[in-house]
Amino acid sequence: VKTQGRHGYRFYAPEMSQRSAASQRIENVLRHALAHNELSLQYQPKVDARLGHIVGAEALLRLQVDGQDLFAPDQFIPVAEDTGLIVSIGTWALREACLQGRAWQREGRPIPLSVNVSPLQFQYAGFYERLDGILNETGLDPSLLELELTERTMMTGGDGSIRLLRRIRQRGVRLSLDDFGTGYSSLSYLKHFPVDALKIDRAFVRDVTQDAETAAITGAIIAMARSLNKEVIAEGVETEAQSRFLREAGCSQMQGFLFGAPMPADVFQQRLAGQAA
Ligand code: C2E
Ligand code: CA
Ligand code: CA
Ligand code: CA
Repeated sequence: VKTQGRHGYRFYAPEMSQRSAASQRIENVLRHALAHNELSLQYQPKVDARLGHIVGAEALLRLQVDGQDLFAPDQFIPVAEDTGLIVSIGTWALREACLQGRAWQREGRPIPLSVNVSPLQFQYAGFYERLDGILNETGLDPSLLELELTERTMMTGGDGSIRLLRRIRQRGVRLSLDDFGTGYSSLSYLKHFPVDALKIDRAFVRDVTQDAETAAITGAIIAMARSLNKEVIAEGVETEAQSRFLREAGCSQMQGFLFGAPMPADVFQQRLAGQAA
């Protein structure tokens, strides 16, 4: 069933009213979580493809009570987008990651952190001012922050998006093109969008050792990105074989269960400390 915009369910009454009840429930849980501080971030290591040590982390939202996930991000992020709640939730995540990054910076263990930004959050008037405010307020070195945006997000605002991306970069924050290989995935966007890095989506990584065409396309994407001086990160790396292929194809960083699942901040900090010793 296809919906056209958020009121499309009216035309598909039985099925969609059911879905709308589920999404209503998630909306209530999200509002409660925002008000009662039940949102949290987990940190998934990004490792150097050659040397294997941690070079950064992606901050990922969790909606948990007593360590149990109420809903997965793939369930609650779309609802947050539909209801507009993503603007406050995304701002919360950005501030929380910057506070954590600042704490690690203070402890003499500066580590680059990436934060996901949703289309609606990015388009929302005042995104830059909010980002700038959070950087000033937390005192995080902007070069320790990276924003992950999808092509869809970058395309939503036309030329305005490009100007906004440039401003963000001028503030010293890095930009990464997320979920590459899904959606439109035109290599021309690599030239078009002022990004520092490209993240090859898990869907590609999964098949890279199974399917010769995926391997060829992935190899070509990595080579092209590198010739444009973009850093290439592979996400969802689960096996040694995938890791080897991607490293040899020229990925500079990797992320995936092979190197570590998303983990609470204190656990991530222990891993960082362990590797420094
Ligand atoms: P994403 O940005 O593509 O994030 C990567 C997802 O892949 C994460 O799922 C991560 O836990 C999962 N993953 C990492 N390594 C592996 C692996 O080796 N195997 C498998 N099977 N999965 C792996 P997660 O945390 O459930 O997040 C799902 C999506 O929700 C994210 O996809 C992102 O689009 C969105 N999301 C999460 N946190 C935020 C946030 O703070 N803001 C926004 N706007 N979106 C977020
Ligand atoms: Ca991401
Ligand atoms: Ca992805
Ligand atoms: Ca994503």
